[in-house]
Amino acid sequence: LFITFEGIDGAGKSSHVEGLAAALRAQGRQVTVSREPGGTPLAERLRTLLLGETMDALTESLLVFAARRDHLRCVIEPALARGDVVLCDRFTDSSFAYQGAGHGVDFGVLAKLERMVQTDLVPGVRAMREPDLTLWFDIAPELAADRLAGASVPDRFEAQPLEFFRRVAQGYAQRAAAAPQRFARLDAAQDRDRVWQQLSSVLVRRGW
Ligand code: C5P
Repeated sequence: LFITFEGIDGAGKSSHVEGLAAALRAQGRQVTVSREPGGTPLAERLRTLLLGETMDALTESLLVFAARRDHLRCVIEPALARGDVVLCDRFTDSSFAYQGAGHGVDFGVLAKLERMVQTDLVPGVRAMREPDLTLWFDIAPELAADRLAGASVPDRFEAQPLEFFRRVAQGYAQRAAAAPQRFARLDAAQDRDRVWQQLSSVLVRRGW
């Protein structure tokens, strides 16, 4: 089972990754928790470059997808092969939302990278690796910005105008509409406990 967590900065998704991991472990399941960009020594080095250096959006996309392939090969595929539940904080939907909808990188280019990076990971397996479930923490960009304002110093990505996050949020809505089976929308404007209740009921509905 491969579950990804998506949403704009300030949606509160990251705090629920550990919460779900703990709940699943309490049920006796083996869980691998990871994040993107990152998750391997190489991908974490790419993350440092992505967060620290100024670059154009296509370069950014190429680095994120390079990090993703290393992450898939070294962490995600082996964990899924062992039967672990894999929880990943951000995955390819972030590329479509941030680099695509946010920065204007062509969706066709991103779709090509997605196919290239997410296939031929395991010898003999042709199917493209995709999440089984994507938990989409949906929140109004204005509210997310208010939440972030109280937090630490923004990284290069967080220091973007509100208009950028409106486009990113729109990008998520488009991805969700195109893959309604995979996406579960959570109303992330609610308080933490209520978001957790929504998240739990998504898993219960799927029999997980
Ligand atoms: O989710 P997290 O805060 O760890 O992500 C780090 C930063 O990288 C975020 O500000 C996020 O907006 C950005 N990011 C991005 N494009 C991606 C993945 C993450 O701009 N494909």
